[in-house]
Amino acid sequence: MVQVQVPDEELLLALLNTTPTIDGVRVDRLADPEDARAWIREQSGGRRAAEDLALLRDTRDTLQELVRGTASPTALAPALNGVHYRAVVDGTGISWELTAPAEHALAARAAVAWDALHGRAPGRLRHCENTEECSLYLIDHSKSNSARWCSMAGCGNRMKARRHYERRRNAQPAARSQER
Ligand SMILES: [Zn+2]
Repeated sequence: MVQVQVPDEELLLALLNTTPTIDGVRVDRLADPEDARAWIREQSGGRRAAEDLALLRDTRDTLQELVRGTASPTALAPALNGVHYRAVVDGTGISWELTAPAEHALAARAAVAWDALHGRAPGRLRHCENTEECSLYLIDHSKSNSARWCSMAGCGNRMKARRHYERRRNAQPAARSQER
C-alpha cells in the first residue's frame, strides 16, 4: 500500500498531458513500456513503482473523456479499487491519508484529484483552446478563470501570431488583390 496525497493536481495534469501533439501528430508517452516506466518513475519521486501500465493508460483515457464530458465517473472504478482513507492523529489534530494499492497508486491519485477539482472548481480543468494543433489540458488557477492556453509561451504565442496575421490579411484586401 502506498500513501498518497489529496489533491494531486500536478499528477492529474501530467497524466492528461501524456498525449501531446508534436508536429501535427498525436503521440502517447505511455504507449512504449520503457517510456511509460520512465514517466511513472518520474511521477513517483524517482522510486521504482509497480504501477499497472494498462490500467494507468485506461484511467488516463477515462479522465480525458471526463474532461470532454463523454464518460461517466463510474469508469474510474478500477483505479479506485482497494483505495481507502486512514486517520492519522498527532498533536495538531486528525488528518486523512489516502492509501492505494501499489499497482495503481498513480491512477488512484489522479482519479481522486480529478474528483476533488471537479467538485471544488468545475470547469477549471479543460482542453487548450488551440484545438487544431494541441491536445494538452490546463488547470486554470487565475482569479478571472480566463486562461485559454496550455502555455503562454507555446500555444498562447502561436495563436496570437496567427490572429495578428489574419487581422493583417483581412485589413489589406486591396494589397492582396494586387499581389495576384
Ligand atoms: Zn496548447
